Amino acid sequence: MARKEVEITPLAFAKIIDWVSSNTEREVGGYMIGKVMKDSVVITDATFAVAESNPAYVALDNMAQFRIIEEIEKRGTDETIIGFWHSHPGLGCFMSGTDIATQRIYQSLLPASVAMVNDGNAFARSRSLADFEAHFYRVNGKEQQDYHEVSFNVITDPNKLLNNLVSHVQAQENPEKIAEKTATKMAFELRNTLRQLSESLLTEEQFTKEHLKLKKAIDSACSDIESIDKQLISKDFFSDQIKKTEKTTKELQKSLNVEITKQRDQLTQLTKVVFGSTLLAILSLIAVITLLILTLLS
Ligand SMILES: [Zn+2]
Repeated sequence: MARKEVEITPLAFAKIIDWVSSNTEREVGGYMIGKVMKDSVVITDATFAVAESNPAYVALDNMAQFRIIEEIEKRGTDETIIGFWHSHPGLGCFMSGTDIATQRIYQSLLPASVAMVNDGNAFARSRSLADFEAHFYRVNGKEQQDYHEVSFNVITDPNKLLNNLVSHVQAQENPEKIAEKTATKMAFELRNTLRQLSESLLTEEQFTKEHLKLKKAIDSACSDIESIDKQLISKDFFSDQIKKTEKTTKELQKSLNVEITKQRDQLTQLTKVVFGSTLLAILSLIAVITLLILTLLS
């Protein structure tokens, strides 16, 4: 697979999908936080920062940028604001004149900056990830009024993903609170995806015994997530659940690693829908569980 110019963590991508698809009547947007690498940018987190919006216009809260920068400086990480994301509900993805002018400012400050445009209206109806439109862009030189698309992928390398998440969470002032908040939100969103995933694992003919083992682990993680989701108000219960979930997670993670290595070639042949939603769902699950474990350890 050719190297992508933008890599985004499932956590950041899931946040944007949620904000965009739950606002189909108005434009929304915010900022993307991440790191500039040698050949790419890695987006580790995203924020929602709408000051004013209507169906065809969004003004971002500029003060939010200062708060983000202040926070990043406090943490002392090498992260920065990579750019802005915003939605075009029902209009499809492109860069308007205003978008181009805004992005030009970002790129003058940070040449590696990218703009992300999303349309989540089709996804909001079908709930199929393949229907979620997401595109990254950079503007061309000053003399041209043009822009070009920048390739991206959702990070699917488990080690890379976990490293990113661990450093991200460790950099937070209050990881426990963030883990709890993220866990609740993602548990809710993941439940249906996991259900669909375990059903497809059951029916796909080419899936072997390994897949059935994986399905069992997912089912059990799924019911754990459900009870966590219901009982999250009780902290003691939350801790108990983390302990219970930890074992399942380790098993799931182990079989996932084996699975990914073994099935990588096979998976690339599957449709983009199956590929995208399967890995995104499993890796998002690992992300959630990692956050839970970190909470427990912190
Ligand atoms: Zn726009």
